Amino acid sequence: MIKLPGLIDPHVHVREPGQTHKEDWDSATQAALAGGVTMILAMPNTKPPIFDAATLDLALAAAKQKARCDYAQFVGAGPDNAEFLPDLAAKAAGLKMYLDSTFGELRLDDMSLWMPHFAKFPKDYPIVLHSESRTMAAGILFAAIYNRPVHIAHISLKEEVLLIKAAKERGIKVTCEVCPHHLFLSKDDIPTISHGHPGRGEVRPRLATKEDVDSLWNNVDVIDCFATDHAPHTLEEKDSENAPPGFPGLETLLPLLLTAVDDGRLTMDHVIQKSVINPRTIFHLPEQPETWIEVDEDTEYEIRAADQFTRCDWTPFEGWKVKGKVRKVVLLGQIAFEDGKILVEKGYGRNIREP
Ligand SMILES: [Zn+2]
Repeated sequence: MIKLPGLIDPHVHVREPGQTHKEDWDSATQAALAGGVTMILAMPNTKPPIFDAATLDLALAAAKQKARCDYAQFVGAGPDNAEFLPDLAAKAAGLKMYLDSTFGELRLDDMSLWMPHFAKFPKDYPIVLHSESRTMAAGILFAAIYNRPVHIAHISLKEEVLLIKAAKERGIKVTCEVCPHHLFLSKDDIPTISHGHPGRGEVRPRLATKEDVDSLWNNVDVIDCFATDHAPHTLEEKDSENAPPGFPGLETLLPLLLTAVDDGRLTMDHVIQKSVINPRTIFHLPEQPETWIEVDEDTEYEIRAADQFTRCDWTPFEGWKVKGKVRKVVLLGQIAFEDGKILVEKGYGRNIREP
């Protein structure tokens, strides 16, 4: 049995408010705890999106009532909220900007809409960009022009990791995260994931080529954080005509990383650095006192959607053999999860931005 700090997942779609048939603050935070994650940062592309004081209060009220692990909520950049978002910065995980198309309504196509956000959002709070390929290059240019840190969500491509490496070498304040599905899956896995339902292979950014995946592994030191981009949709939705993109990931993150440690592709230090230390620094998160997880690193098992707490009832990693199981999670001095059972009540989690 090994003891690790509780993991921080800086990229989770909780789906509440508005789409609680997919997930809510209760089921998402149960999935987090079962995966050894003791703090989540929630994305703002809910229904309605979280983009002003009223909608932020709506999400935080639901979280306060239901969350079983610690959390903070992002606000989303829109075309006309740059003036007042800075007033909400202290209550939010940070600012999320959707610069490329994804699930939900928040999207800023015109670069003149990016400018006021970069100019006005307080520099000591993070800006996270959903920006792929050349849009990411534009985002890094904005970081340089406005001399402020940006965090690039879910990088997946060789060109992205190489450009971030070059930008870091020149002192531009850019950090990035990678999702397990972009590290452990490529385009070639889509037929296996799909089982004749093409929607199950849909995720944004899309699964990339083997060359892209290899490049992420070869540049693991450039990657600041592991983030799940946990994006649950029901199987019925995934198997429908216009399948929404997204994979669940909270419960498969740590087993996959531990398996990579066992294979010698990662070190335990990588896991702690990129899933605890770096997210804490980048997003200015508090330490969690009396919080740790206990992992049996020798237990081998198969990933099964049926064993998961997420409401969406499927996983792209179905049937994968992994080595390393979360046995126990202690959060703020209480056993929150042990041997497959959630042991803390709804509302136990804290909003870490609340003084
Ligand atoms: Zn996302």
